[in-house]
Amino acid sequence: MDCLFCKIAAGKIPSDKVYEDDELLAFRDIDPKAPTHILVIPKTHITSINQLDVESSLIVSKAFLLLKKIAKDEGISESGYRIVTNVLKDGGQTVDHLHFHLLGGRSLSWPPG
Ligand code: AMP
Ligand code: ZN
Repeated sequence: MDCLFCKIAAGKIPSDKVYEDDELLAFRDIDPKAPTHILVIPKTHITSINQLDVESSLIVSKAFLLLKKIAKDEGISESGYRIVTNVLKDGGQTVDHLHFHLLGGRSLSWPPG
């Protein structure tokens, strides 16, 4: 499948890795929108939350535990942070492989644009 994040997960395209195990990969966003901007992806291809089912949902809780750990390691646990997953056109999804943005290190506005 011609998927950018599958290629990054397989190591075919380089990334600035923060964490990796058999199931998950975390790497720095190439175009950071905040001092900390890290993406957490399942290595297996899931297009978006729309494709999530009971079997694949365990990876989401694992991803959130990892996001929590990375936030601590990045020193933003106490100042605060945001976890975002964009879905399809109105959500602003540009890469069709499920990913969670971890954003922090500055005050983030709400609501999003
Ligand atoms: P989204 O718009 O929610 O689909 O997020 C996709 C994110 O992937 C954007 O923030 C991009 O900056 C980021 N991105 C695209 N290509 C790469 C890459 N090769 N390495 C790291 N991040 C990337
Ligand atoms: Zn993929």
